[in-house]
Amino acid sequence: MTEVLEKVEGLLLQGLRKRFGELEVLKGISLEVKKGELFTLLGPSGCGKTTLLRLVGGFELPDAGRIVLSGRDLTGLPAHRRPVNTVFQNYALFPHLTVYENVAFGLRSRRFPEAVIRSKVEYALGLLRLESLVHRYPHQLSGGQKQRVALARALVNEPEVLLLDEPMSALDAKLRAEVQVELRNLQRRLGATFILVTHDQEEAMAVSDRIGVMEGGVLLQVGTPDEVYERPRTRFVAEFLGVANLILARKVGEGAETPLGVLPVKVPWNEGFLALRPERVEIHEVPVPGSLPARVRQVIYRGAYLEAFLEALGQVPLRARTSLRLEVGQEVFVRLPLEGLVVLDG
Ligand code: ATP
Repeated sequence: MTEVLEKVEGLLLQGLRKRFGELEVLKGISLEVKKGELFTLLGPSGCGKTTLLRLVGGFELPDAGRIVLSGRDLTGLPAHRRPVNTVFQNYALFPHLTVYENVAFGLRSRRFPEAVIRSKVEYALGLLRLESLVHRYPHQLSGGQKQRVALARALVNEPEVLLLDEPMSALDAKLRAEVQVELRNLQRRLGATFILVTHDQEEAMAVSDRIGVMEGGVLLQVGTPDEVYERPRTRFVAEFLGVANLILARKVGEGAETPLGVLPVKVPWNEGFLALRPERVEIHEVPVPGSLPARVRQVIYRGAYLEAFLEALGQVPLRARTSLRLEVGQEVFVRLPLEGLVVLDG
């Protein structure tokens, strides 16, 4: 066993469990994060993402399980002895220190020579385009600038793994989008392993190599953004990633019986759900082969497209995206492309 673990590059989490009193917050998490990967833990508030990150950082100890990094067992090591750094949600900058001194702090406490400190700090400040702000104090910085200082302060230690706990939650939408791109570029340039925690599915999609979706202390699904988005395995993952259309179905012969008729889809259960993304629902103004009549109930203008709330045969609500100019009350014809239907686990 140990031999196998020693060959693993990257981070291996094995059967991690954590309980706070009566509450079991992590129920046996096993996961491999590859070296140089940007991995995101995505899930609703309270699902245990931060606790998992804190176990990796060494701020909490697991009740069971192991944490192995590049073949080295970190499970019992204190935080400061792990080659791991954390960027906290509130940035936790020292208010009485300048940007330069905030970034230099960790190196000073490890007693690096002054010349080494200078070159490492200047490199980190350059990476995050902070050179012009070195003499400022945290209260003289914008949210995005503080965020970059927090990142520089973590990266200056050249950690093997950087942990980021909702690092963009304090930023407004525009800045957030910019910082997401910067973070992604930075991670690629450094080739470092980043683990990000977020409850924002769009953010997870935008920055990650892979995403792990969590609920109630369990890792439900791990995959690339494309995999979890296009092929969610469970109803929870589908709904959390914004798959709006869930269609109840029953197995009949080789197909699935739904309120929209029998669909030629193979299902492994007797009763369950099919999922269909709104952008996959085709809307036509005239009947086409295989289409069903539906009524437009509501239309929301979203800029680049319209979001339409439809009611199909059998009062089935369907959400769709379209570039057609639809009116409330209008009759349309919808087609559900078979290749867009995802069979969820029973
Ligand atoms: P959020 O996005 O809101 O931070 P999260 O998914 O990161 O949520 P955690 O912070 O890991 O969730 O918390 C998971 C559960 O564990 C919550 O119910 C929380 O109240 C509880 N919890 C976390 N830390 C402790 C602690 N030190 N003592 C007791 N309960 C705790």
